[in-house]
Amino acid sequence: MSRILVLEELVGLSSDSHHSLSQGAEPLTLSSELDYLFETGPLTPQELIARLERDPTIKGLICPLSQRVTDEVFQRAPQLKVVANLAVGLNNIDLSSARERGVRVAHTPGVLTEATADLAWALLLGGVRRIVEGDQLARSGAWSGWEMNQLLGSSIGGRGVGEGGGKTLGVIGLGAIGQAVARRAVGFQLAVSYYSRTRKLDLEASEGWRYQPLDELVSAVDYLVLCAPLTSETHHLLDRTRILSMRPHAYLINVGRGPLIDEEALINALEAGHLSGAALDVYEREPQIPQRLRALPQVTLSPHLGSATYEARREMSHLALSAVREVLTGASESDAVFAV
Ligand code: NAP
Repeated sequence: MSRILVLEELVGLSSDSHHSLSQGAEPLTLSSELDYLFETGPLTPQELIARLERDPTIKGLICPLSQRVTDEVFQRAPQLKVVANLAVGLNNIDLSSARERGVRVAHTPGVLTEATADLAWALLLGGVRRIVEGDQLARSGAWSGWEMNQLLGSSIGGRGVGEGGGKTLGVIGLGAIGQAVARRAVGFQLAVSYYSRTRKLDLEASEGWRYQPLDELVSAVDYLVLCAPLTSETHHLLDRTRILSMRPHAYLINVGRGPLIDEEALINALEAGHLSGAALDVYEREPQIPQRLRALPQVTLSPHLGSATYEARREMSHLALSAVREVLTGASESDAVFAV
């Protein structure tokens, strides 16, 4: 019987009745034709190799995005037939090595789009309206009551008197999540500009979104949301020069991947008082978050929570289980999504 090494807890395997918003969701099932080994991850590539060499019957791997699956892993564990990543981004897996060796690689697009777009907006709203600072003041016992000048943020959008008006949301990476972020701007009466690898003329026509070249977009918008994948082209896409070209009052949100931003350059800029703030869900060296970043009050930090809803995580678990089952038992699972 083929074995699957599962290096992350899956969501939805039992009926989680405390998730009242998800009542009625059937528990996910495991295939009786497969043997699942639930262990704690992530492992270093060397530990993973040792684990796979110890047990050549392990043919499938379900792993979190923090698990690096390198060329050496594929080379030293030729028994691997399928890797299912509990994420959309595949920057932790050497895809060309997998392709070369005929290993299928699955991921979980689609099911976490709205959750991640919601989080981007939660960060934008929370950061620009200073919710975290307000929460800290409210809890501290030091709050002495309503004050005209207390914790002033900015109006998010709107066009009326007292609403600022005419603000623009910029999205970099107009894929599934980028589009879901942009769609949410309607209610705030924000104009939307975007930069993406491929221009989307259909969306420009149907949604009124405007394409701008990268440098132009970065220096023009009031809110900048990063939704691009991490690739060799997008590494440090927001470098020092681009960060300093942003409008001084602009607000930056990153729900893509940490290395899209030169973190050190961002910290320097924020310490110097550039930008009104930033809200980050992802970091350059996760789980490390530099102390200098943590010390900045104008920064909101969330610990990579983009897809962290019960519903999204349950579907991510389902897609990963479907993918390994499809490859290892030959069962046809129409909803498994393979990148390789
Ligand atoms: P997607 O549908 O594949 O969208 C990615 C978009 O980025 C595509 O439109 C793509 O190309 C564009 N793009 C690719 N390379 C680019 C480049 N060099 N410059 C500008 N744009 C580029 O994926 P998605 O579901 O929206 O997810 C996007 C990313 O979000 C993932 O890769 C992952 O890293 C991240 N993510 C984070 C979380 C979290 O927990 N914070 C959760 C889920 C995903 P085209 O313009 O050619 O279409």
